[in-house]
Amino acid sequence: MTSQDFINLEDKHGAHNYHPLPVVLAKGEGCKVWDAEGKEYYDFLSAYSAVNQGHCHPKIIDALVDQARVLTLTSRAFYNDQLGPYEKYITEFFGYDKILPMNSGAEADETALKLARRWGYDKKGVPENQAKIVVCEGNFHGRTITIISMSTDPDSFKGFGPYTPGFEVVPYNDLPALEKALEDPNVVGFLVEPIQGEAGVYVPDDGYLKKAYDVCKSKNVLFIADEVQTGIARTGKMLACDHEGVRPDVLILGKALSGGVLPVSAVLADDDIMLVIKPGEHGSTFGGNPMACRVAMAALEVVKEENLAEKSEKLGEIFRAELEKIDNDMIELVRGKGLLNAIVIKPKNGKEAWDVCVKMAENGLLAKPTHGHIIRFAPPLVITEEQIHECITIIKKSLDEISAE
Ligand code: PLP
Repeated sequence: MTSQDFINLEDKHGAHNYHPLPVVLAKGEGCKVWDAEGKEYYDFLSAYSAVNQGHCHPKIIDALVDQARVLTLTSRAFYNDQLGPYEKYITEFFGYDKILPMNSGAEADETALKLARRWGYDKKGVPENQAKIVVCEGNFHGRTITIISMSTDPDSFKGFGPYTPGFEVVPYNDLPALEKALEDPNVVGFLVEPIQGEAGVYVPDDGYLKKAYDVCKSKNVLFIADEVQTGIARTGKMLACDHEGVRPDVLILGKALSGGVLPVSAVLADDDIMLVIKPGEHGSTFGGNPMACRVAMAALEVVKEENLAEKSEKLGEIFRAELEKIDNDMIELVRGKGLLNAIVIKPKNGKEAWDVCVKMAENGLLAKPTHGHIIRFAPPLVITEEQIHECITIIKKSLDEISAE
């Protein structure tokens, strides 16, 4: 079968809820992927930062296969011999008392919202059903009804009402607006992405996260960091919050927690928060399954053993500096941190970010536009400095070719 055959099958039998680039991938290794015809590409999306450790990392795959042969799923109706060791490992790794394991990022976000509401009622003394959670304009936390209820992107929420109440939206990177919103004593949590990934890699001002955290503390509000996309070394530190020395009250992780091998997500918090949820009040059939536990431990070990945070920080600086040097008026702006970066594209001769991505794919580099005019660049963190330079050459060549059309 050809790539076009596979595309036709998806088109005919799958829901049309995505608009992929016309590339059919059949194999991945490290920072590269190959299509059904065997053409090689650099992967500059990394499955939206789930594959930070690189495609099919041998250590993570070994953990998956070894565990798959022994025990895959028990549900939480029983204990299993992988969950306890994993919980000890990850809580020590990130410095929290407890973890609540889930699968997708959206589920972990939902978990954090439930946790914050219950904490508000049990610990803060908010009257029943009055809890409010403050979120940011341009947020992306997933696709469930509750999560889209706090979205400001019509593509996410329009036509899916009625919406879940209890959210207040403030502009991102706006401390006075946050301070004002937190004057309401019924606010229990502030949910924030340390860098807004899906919105187009919006990096807030230096000091914003720390000051926002301090405002939360002064109002007895939980600072809840959604590090599903920014966490696990993507932005040059283990967590993006580490750039400002902020330790979130509630930390949400997903994506690269499994190195892209399984849906594995987690919510981390200390006892005074986490223990407000009692047996039977929250859970998931697959959350904390033995395979997920083994895989997540291996995925975190890889990040440490291969110094991926340090690599991401160093290569990110080189990558942005080289992007800045590209002399092409289609590049309006370069921004990012570590290896989570984006360029804002100025359309030229009717050519937009989508056309640039199609051209880059032809030239052997895969990236995807977001919001029409922004291209995110987020390669696996195992990429080398030499490969980064090669990729800059591909990006420059693609922009030049598009500009000349
Ligand atoms: N939170 C953030 C910050 C994300 O970027 C994403 C996905 O892109 C999610 C949550 C949702 O994760 P999932 O697609 O695994 O539900």
